Amino acid sequence: MKNVVIIGGGFAGIRAAKALASASVSVFLVDRKNHHTFQPLLYQVATATLSPADIAQPIRAILQKQKNTCVIMDEVTSIDIEEKKVHLKNEGALPYDYLVLATGATHSYFGHNEWEQFAPGLKTIEDALRLRGRIFSVFEEAERDMVRTNTHKPLNFVVIGGGPTGVEVAGALADTCHVYLRDEFRHIDTTKARVILLEAMSKVLGPYPDDLSSSAFQQLNECGVEIMINTQVTDVQESYVMTSAGKIDAAVIIWAAGVQASPLGKDLGFPVDRRGCVMVDQFLNPPAHPEIFICGDLAHFEQDGKQLPGVAQTAMQMGVHAAEVIKQDLESKPRKPFKFFDKGDMATIGRMRAVANIRWPFNAHAKGFAAWVSWLIIHIFFLIGLRNRFLVFWQWIWTFSSCQRGAQLITDNEVLCKHEAQLASKK
Ligand SMILES: Cc1cc2nc3c(=O)[nH]c(=O)nc-3n(C[C@H](O)[C@H](O)[C@H](O)COP(=O)(O)OP(=O)(O)OC[C@H]3O[C@@H](n4cnc5c(N)ncnc54)[C@H](O)[C@@H]3O)c2cc1C
Repeated sequence: MKNVVIIGGGFAGIRAAKALASASVSVFLVDRKNHHTFQPLLYQVATATLSPADIAQPIRAILQKQKNTCVIMDEVTSIDIEEKKVHLKNEGALPYDYLVLATGATHSYFGHNEWEQFAPGLKTIEDALRLRGRIFSVFEEAERDMVRTNTHKPLNFVVIGGGPTGVEVAGALADTCHVYLRDEFRHIDTTKARVILLEAMSKVLGPYPDDLSSSAFQQLNECGVEIMINTQVTDVQESYVMTSAGKIDAAVIIWAAGVQASPLGKDLGFPVDRRGCVMVDQFLNPPAHPEIFICGDLAHFEQDGKQLPGVAQTAMQMGVHAAEVIKQDLESKPRKPFKFFDKGDMATIGRMRAVANIRWPFNAHAKGFAAWVSWLIIHIFFLIGLRNRFLVFWQWIWTFSSCQRGAQLITDNEVLCKHEAQLASKK
């Protein structure tokens, strides 16, 4: 039997593996984590609406019924495309006949990697937990300072980047400060906290149609987010962000401004775009390698003259397509080219608000509550695992009806150590 090695258990990798369930191949899915993360809901872990296990699922559990599939938790360090071998950090090399490379993307600090320590991004469960720790420890510190000195540092949360992630994070943070924490502290007024969203372009949600982008701007304002458009970030330090409009003091800074492809793509030596995404042909292959498929955020695929967006639906469709082409090869059928079917996009803005650019089953622009309900339904539908669907559904009902959150824990070690150090220095 032919060996299919899939690298990455994200949206593309999992879909590729599932689509090969009944094929006469041996599938090896390698991921450095033991779980698949539903990244679109990471911000809800960071702002304590959901717990990590609500949005993550062990890859082994997802594929347990697939007898032809073996899951390996390891990191791929390099790929020998001549020898057709994938080199693993711990377990030697894995030979392949077909390779599906779907290692996704990571944050880009536009050449300022030193900003990362002060302005972390959201990509993994660990990132979300660290951010959750930072956010909630800022309130704890302010409450302590208020008791001791009757004053505290400004509770400013600065979100850099007004794309879908930045908009969702800013909306959720505004609700956290102005709604959820309102009655929990005795000495500080969390409703006075500022959430500032910085965007270099002239509008938020840049790729969305103008009416949705303006609606998102208005809805963000309604939930108390201060938006600064046409504002470039020039420096990021621990307690402030320097911008083209001046200095902004910041208690917590969140990076949602840019992504770059996982380095494995570039290391293969194939042509890449400026973000490191591998240029692929109509079958998702890099030049002269029909046995290699590049899928998801790592792929640069153009349709109708435009690059496909780095979103979950693109990754899922690419993963399925790579598997279909492998099956067509095995059955000696001609390969079918990849065609992306765009169902639309949506972004939520705190509770009860959202914008949705619906393209299937009909064309429509939805705003406000109607868009938010569609967002809820679609996210429940695409979550992997019945248990997670049920848990998230229940958590949302509980959170939105009671205005309380069950996941408001500070557990990250780095944050706790900083907290200990602060206490020691103030003694
Ligand atoms: C905060 C956030 C919010 C988002 N919101 C939305 C949204 O609302 N809607 C939407 O459609 N999309 C959203 N996206 C984008 C969407 O999540 C991505 O487009 C999608 O995850 C890409 O899937 P992928 O399979 O290419 O990569 P990923 O899902 O990133 O999976 C890559 C996998 O590869 C593994 N990996 C990487 N390198 C190695 C290695 N060297 N060895 C072994 N394993 C490796 C990783 O551990 C990971 O499991 C969001 C993304 C983020 C970060």
